[in-house]
Amino acid sequence: MKSLREYIKEAGEKGVAIGHFNISNLEALHGIYQAAKKLNVPVIIGLSEGEEDFVGREEAVGMIREIREKENFPIFLNADHHYSFERVKASIDSGFDTVIFDGANLSFEENVKVTKQCVDYAHEVMKNNSPAGERDILVEAELGYIGSGSNIKDTIPEGAGILTKVADAKNFVEQTGVDMLAPSVGSIHGLIKSGKPHIDSALVAEIKNTVGIPLVLHGGSGLRDEDFTNAISAGISIIHINTEIRLAYDEALKKSLADNPNETTPYKILEPAVEAIEKIVESRLKLFNNLK
Ligand SMILES: [Zn+2]
Repeated sequence: MKSLREYIKEAGEKGVAIGHFNISNLEALHGIYQAAKKLNVPVIIGLSEGEEDFVGREEAVGMIREIREKENFPIFLNADHHYSFERVKASIDSGFDTVIFDGANLSFEENVKVTKQCVDYAHEVMKNNSPAGERDILVEAELGYIGSGSNIKDTIPEGAGILTKVADAKNFVEQTGVDMLAPSVGSIHGLIKSGKPHIDSALVAEIKNTVGIPLVLHGGSGLRDEDFTNAISAGISIIHINTEIRLAYDEALKKSLADNPNETTPYKILEPAVEAIEKIVESRLKLFNNLK
């Protein structure tokens, strides 16, 4: 099977993007995997620090590897928004395929320093892995604050939405040697009640042409379809969706409980929630992969 690095390169060449979806439990993994399998497209499962603590780091690695190797399906695991070198290192040591060091809240210099530390560590692990070249680890970093928390917000959070400067992106990538970059290009984490954020595709293209590495779009929930397609055309290779899945899960589960007050079998109660996740992931994957 091709590595995630190769799938990302291929997505760039085809002008499509790989979907990244977060999970907090096994039901979500089922829903996402079923959708990706149905469409036969690669997919990335993300775990934030909180999600990772709840699911279990080793358990998550075990589940994803099992599907990838036994089912021969391109599913990969990402440590989403990890805020310290120690957390990134723990995810790399457990076997994650890709990690995100999020130093967007730090000074530029401090962000560079810790990101570089993560990149160096990933390279060391890859080099010492035996047989050599068996493990590929991608390191992503954030530059520019796009808010935090996959939740519903009344307004755009203070300080968020300041767009990444092209020169900063260039310096950052040169100084860190990072594999992928998540710049701030207009999207905000979570769903914003007061209007939809807008993606600055021209900025995406300018950053992409300058840094030359794959770019990742965070805060994808609630964006217009054309914002996604324009962003992909401009050079986005991976798109993160979390809040939409959480909402779909939440609503389906509440309805299921209300509709069947006497039902006590968890897999029966949870079935509509899995279906709701599958439906939303399928529609996003179709859009990102340019499928009808
Ligand atoms: Zn994110």
